[in-house]
Amino acid sequence: MSDKEKKIIKTIKIDVDKCNGCRACEMICSSFHAAPKYSSNNPARSRIRIIREPLRDLYLPVYAGEYTVAECAGRDKYTIDGKEYDECSFCRASCPSRDEFKEPDSGLPLKCDMCEGEDEPLCVKWCMHDALILEEREEEVEEQVEQEDLEIGLESLADKFGMDKIMDAVARMKEKD
Ligand code: SF4
Ligand code: SF4
Repeated sequence: MSDKEKKIIKTIKIDVDKCNGCRACEMICSSFHAAPKYSSNNPARSRIRIIREPLRDLYLPVYAGEYTVAECAGRDKYTIDGKEYDECSFCRASCPSRDEFKEPDSGLPLKCDMCEGEDEPLCVKWCMHDALILEEREEEVEEQVEQEDLEIGLESLADKFGMDKIMDAVARMKEKD
């Protein structure tokens, strides 16, 4: 049986026109997620990445989303301001067919956690150009669904990396805390 509970759902609205590609969001995110916190700054560890086309003055923030076990069938092409992009360029998934959104040391998938424990997502706080805006709304959610999500996520990770590697990574993270 599942219980319903009220929860504040946080989302971040992206205004692409306001982003100037400064990458402050990548910097603070990677630093916040370093172990220990703020000890290093490696953009590959960031849960947000900026697609940058300075010559076209085009900058597009993309947040790390769900992990996927296998690559999808998406092969669409987008033409933006005269330049062609693969569908994969804008994808949020940590996917086996590309390097984006993978923890550089362990290879484990990265996903935005909204800066758990902080009052406000740090990328929002550090974006001086208001390209990232936090929005909050109250929703009733099933507690059980969250548990199921966790189990599915853990199972996928175990299939991909093996349980030993995951346990090692967790142990290492705990040591560094
Ligand atoms: S901090 Fe803001 S303006 Fe700078 S790259 Fe990130 S989203 Fe764009
Ligand atoms: S909300 Fe936090 S975890 Fe998510 S991308 Fe922004 S800084 Fe990174």
